[in-house]
Amino acid sequence: MAGLYFHVPFCRRRCCYCDFYFVTNDALIERFLVALEAEVVGRASLFESEIVSTIYFGGGTPSMLSGKQIERILSLVEKTFRLDSDLEITLEANPEDLSDEALREFSQAGVSRLSVGVQSFDERKLRALSREHSASQSRDGIERAHRWFRNVGLDLIFGAEGETLSDWRRDLETAIELSPEHVSAYSLTVEPLTPLAKLIARGKRQPPSDALQTEMFLQAIEILEASGYEHYEVSNYAKPNFRSRHNSSYWDRTPYLGFGPSAHSFFCENGDEIRTANARSLRRYLENPLASQDFRETLSDLDQFNELVLLSLRRREGLSLKQLRKSFNFAASHLNALAPTILNFQRDGLIATTDDATLKLTPKGFAVADSIAEAFFVSKRATLESDDGNPQRTLSKANGQP
Ligand code: SF4
Repeated sequence: MAGLYFHVPFCRRRCCYCDFYFVTNDALIERFLVALEAEVVGRASLFESEIVSTIYFGGGTPSMLSGKQIERILSLVEKTFRLDSDLEITLEANPEDLSDEALREFSQAGVSRLSVGVQSFDERKLRALSREHSASQSRDGIERAHRWFRNVGLDLIFGAEGETLSDWRRDLETAIELSPEHVSAYSLTVEPLTPLAKLIARGKRQPPSDALQTEMFLQAIEILEASGYEHYEVSNYAKPNFRSRHNSSYWDRTPYLGFGPSAHSFFCENGDEIRTANARSLRRYLENPLASQDFRETLSDLDQFNELVLLSLRRREGLSLKQLRKSFNFAASHLNALAPTILNFQRDGLIATTDDATLKLTPKGFAVADSIAEAFFVSKRATLESDDGNPQRTLSKANGQP
């Protein structure tokens, strides 16, 4: 099984914390669609032997496309790829775009899952995040969305300036009242070069407090789990059977092709695992979408090991030490050397070990999941005897795709 990701690089304006790639010139949408079609056709052979089971429209703001434009992309996908009969098609939407007419069109185009960028139901917090929509647009939009979709998710952010633990509790409770099938809750991070980073550097905004964000993170787990949402990945919660299949496939290391400026891909070629990324430039993309790739790497065994550790520890199912030992010839000695570290994590209440040698993070552990994963990473020096000559790379936390 495999996935397709479409990056729709248009927004009406910039939210102060955002570092995703987008432009605000929506007059370029038609030219973007023509380039996107050329990229789909030009790269389809990479998935000749794959069956596509999930499609994701992310951005940017994909709900700035009309239902007809989404349909146009999906009809090309249908002609170009082999599709699973049980296809999940997700569209990210902003609350201000959820009119009945738009929802009907998206549903008729084939979208089966809507992911709404709510961020908060608090007007003050929405302004601190410089979001364009209001809390009532989110409430009304999600209620309307449920008339057209049986799978609606919403995204929330915590840790905005001035936000207290009880403000965050109210956001979570309002979200639960609306009964979405899926909730993503992200801590606000200050990405370099964003307007928020510049405001903080000039002393006009306060950076988020790590301690408060940790409390908020733990509060989200407690409140959402008590309301029947399964905490299945660090930032993601779902009602039973409503996990995001597309995002789960990133964490499973299932192959996917990403189309559009800044989109990443992961696939196998001649037995190698490859990651690529398109340039963050709509201009280059419009000139020649098939020449806009500016990153490509072949993953070494070390890279694959480190990715598996990071992605597994961030998930509810945890990290199977048996699987690591079976898949990597250097794993046994590396894990033996790590035994005291694992014991320390257990003593600190960050990790629990199951009978079948699987390591699972506790709620407290999930709050520092990436640092725990780093302690497990294997370095080039530690595996000289099995080194394949590829330089070790630094794993980034996320690839810009949801
Ligand atoms: S957060 Fe979403 S809507 Fe805001 S600028 Fe970024 S991509 Fe656009």
